[in-house]
Amino acid sequence: MSMSLEQQVAIVTGGSRGIGQAICLSLARAGATVIAAARGLERTQAWVREAGECAARIIPTALDVTDRAAVNQLVEDTVERHGRIDIIVNNAGITRDGLLMSMEDEQFDQVLDTNLRAAFSMMRAVSRHMVRARRGRIINIASVSGLMGNPGQANYSAAKAGLIGMTKSVAKELGKRNITCNAVAPGFIETDMTGELPEKLKEQVKTIIPLQRFGTPAEVASLVAFLAGPDAAYITGQVFVVDGGLHM
Ligand code: NAP
Repeated sequence: MSMSLEQQVAIVTGGSRGIGQAICLSLARAGATVIAAARGLERTQAWVREAGECAARIIPTALDVTDRAAVNQLVEDTVERHGRIDIIVNNAGITRDGLLMSMEDEQFDQVLDTNLRAAFSMMRAVSRHMVRARRGRIINIASVSGLMGNPGQANYSAAKAGLIGMTKSVAKELGKRNITCNAVAPGFIETDMTGELPEKLKEQVKTIIPLQRFGTPAEVASLVAFLAGPDAAYITGQVFVVDGGLHM
């Protein structure tokens, strides 16, 4: 593995498990120092202890992304301690599925707050430093649900479609400062999030995925690492689907 991200500093939200954990690992393996930020600090510490050689480059950090002051503070602390912030991956996300007719306001607000507003707060906070440094990589984890819609996910698909729109605006705004901003839209990936789905539904879904299986967190993380690396310097404002062919 080439150490293409050596000396670089990254923040990954939702780094305690699932796709975020895999992203932390792939960025750290490429040489970056990674702030793994999530509410579940102990959970992050536990997997980092088992992370082998690159564990020393992963820093478990407690963060609730919906706490706006805490997001700003984390970015300031990171820059103070490490002198820079090169990469931000907005990956923290939740679902609160329900049919439109019976969806509570709170279900809608929580999902928008975590999946969309938090990414805005984080991008605003890091952009000041990236603009000054004249470099930066922003990667937002969206979902095919934001492209295709999904019954029961009016809240989630709105947040993810919003994240895609915001990605494009930020790419246009910050391009002249040598900052790229892209979105990755996973399909069905094996994590706690899809673990909640009924077994019967999972089997049905697999039959309509051309590759006939769910993806792994590592299969999303490898693309994120590429987008954070030097070979992706001329790519911005794009949405990359990682879904085994589901959305075609
Ligand atoms: P997951 O296994 O449920 O993990 C979600 C992560 O987000 C956890 O690390 C969780 O950490 C963190 N998180 C949630 N709320 C947070 C908050 N308020 N503050 C900080 N961290 C928070 O989910 P996943 O499948 O890995 O999903 C990761 C991202 O991929 C999400 O944005 C999700 O929408 C997206 N995605 C997933 C799939 C899929 O099939 N799995 C498909 C498309 C898109 P704590 O609970 O420790 O805070």
